[in-house]
Amino acid sequence: MADWKSSAAVAIVGGGIMGASTAYHLARRGCTDVVILERDFLAQASTGLSAGGIRQQFSHPANIRLSQEAVRLFERFEEEFGVDINFRQVGYLFLAQSEATWQEFLTNVEVQRAQNVPVEMLTPDEIKYRWPYLVVDDLRGGTFGPKDGYADPYSVAMAFATASRRMGVRIEEQTSVTGMLVEGGRVRGVETTRGPVSAPVVVNVAGAWGAQVAKMAGLDLPVVPYRRQVFITKAFEAIPKPVPMILDIEPAFYFRGEGPGVLMGMSDQEEPPSFNTNVDYCFLERMIEMAVRRAPILEEAEILRGWGGLYDITPDDNPIIGPLPGVEGLYCAIGFSGHGFQQGPTVGRVLSDLILDGRTDFDLSPFAHDRFDQVMGKGETRVV
Ligand SMILES: Cc1cc2nc3c(=O)[nH]c(=O)nc-3n(C[C@H](O)[C@H](O)[C@H](O)COP(=O)(O)OP(=O)(O)OC[C@H]3O[C@@H](n4cnc5c(N)ncnc54)[C@H](O)[C@@H]3O)c2cc1C
Repeated sequence: MADWKSSAAVAIVGGGIMGASTAYHLARRGCTDVVILERDFLAQASTGLSAGGIRQQFSHPANIRLSQEAVRLFERFEEEFGVDINFRQVGYLFLAQSEATWQEFLTNVEVQRAQNVPVEMLTPDEIKYRWPYLVVDDLRGGTFGPKDGYADPYSVAMAFATASRRMGVRIEEQTSVTGMLVEGGRVRGVETTRGPVSAPVVVNVAGAWGAQVAKMAGLDLPVVPYRRQVFITKAFEAIPKPVPMILDIEPAFYFRGEGPGVLMGMSDQEEPPSFNTNVDYCFLERMIEMAVRRAPILEEAEILRGWGGLYDITPDDNPIIGPLPGVEGLYCAIGFSGHGFQQGPTVGRVLSDLILDGRTDFDLSPFAHDRFDQVMGKGETRVV
């Protein structure tokens, strides 16, 4: 174990977008004695399996602000990192069938406009005019955010990781964290499959495994893994491009353009929590039925491949970000409930401020670990 260094100023558990972004922002501020401990390889879990969607159409102002700051970075990403992340502002179109969903959209639009998010409210006829391939007869209306879109999550995470490594951050892949070293109410480091790492600061950014890692420090956090599946089609020229991210809220189905094809996904609201990421081809049939109902032209598309990944879901669909109780030096950013890729760039910045300054300019109270004990306010609108 010649190159194993058994101490660090900050040990980061998890090498997805959250871990890579946190390491980058720490190193950028001069804190380079940082190690990322990743059980597998970088960005192979939820980050690499994500649909890459980036939106400002959230229902909670704090989520909007997290995404707005990230969008500003995505817009200048290539300039700053020299990496093309395929950032495309093709828009997000949310579709409502029921009056209840439409009323929720209207409330959300008020919140969004108050945060300067450009968002249009559209009638079914207006939707049909702009995207003629959509069936709109059953719709109450839709909202369109022209600045929303998508990017390649793997490229973003790897750009953060590469830049961090250049500044001196160590990245230890195939290294599982197996225990937390806690003494006198303080974190002292972690145990790993390759030996211990002593560290006064430990960051739990283990995604869907975040509750397991928190448990190593004796903490129970309500973050639960759920499988989500995505499929892409072969090149499919029949559908006019660009295809925005189109979200059919009630059946929890979405699709968008992906290169010359289409990417689509759906949430199985009945599926119990698990770490299963296998592709279920019976589910694919149900999804195609839904796809063809909304966009009959998709019947002509051929599925190229599919994959399953995990959402890390909390009771209010909002993440837990910040220091954890009773264990000084332990921080977490987990429970992103399906919208963590786009928030990773800002969350890494916010965590680095907390670690280095003990405070941040971002109001993290909506994401506090103890909010679940209180009467819960309205969480984030579940999208898919
Ligand atoms: C199908 C799908 C579609 C999605 N679509 C979107 C989208 O359109 N837009 C969006 O913003 N978000 C989307 N998401 C959510 C997004 O992918 C996640 O919120 C985000 O990637 C979370 O990043 P992370 O770094 O927290 O987790 P991860 O990327 O999962 O990284 C956590 C890492 O921790 C490692 N780890 C776990 N336990 C240990 C341990 N004990 N020791 C060492 N390492 C450990 C894991 O191996 C993993 O690499 C989607 C997710 C899925 C699955």
